[in-house]
Amino acid sequence: MSQSKFTIKDFKQRYPSDDACLEELMQLRFSDRPTCPNPTCQKVTKFHRVASKPVYECQWCGYQISPMAGTIFHKSPTPLSDWFYIMYLMTATRSGVSAKEVQRQLGVTYKTAWRMCNKIRQAMDEKSILDLRKICQFKPISRISPKLFLVFS
Ligand SMILES: [Zn+2]
Repeated sequence: MSQSKFTIKDFKQRYPSDDACLEELMQLRFSDRPTCPNPTCQKVTKFHRVASKPVYECQWCGYQISPMAGTIFHKSPTPLSDWFYIMYLMTATRSGVSAKEVQRQLGVTYKTAWRMCNKIRQAMDEKSILDLRKICQFKPISRISPKLFLVFS
């Protein structure tokens, strides 16, 4: 399977930081040429990352969107890169990952680890592929991108 060929080394290269994970989320949720959701703008735009904040802003009007808003990652004290790492582990291992293991690997409480596992499992389809529609708990701010599955490959 192509999924299993995506090694931990590949993972670390592709997602070296929270910023890299955020960019991936941005690309997944908002298509390459999104329309600005600001009612007074609504232009086809490019969103630029705002330094020091996990948000992007419209090139025309400065309207800000957060790729994490409305997702399981929103307001989580756990860094996005840790979420991605556990999502990678859960999709890469057939037997799954226990909350105890997540607790050990991330150094979080058992309660946090359990909650993370639960949310990630709920977001996976029967092939253990992460369905973005399920990661996004609420209606996306803008029209969701057609790339609906987060696959580590
Ligand atoms: Zn705009």
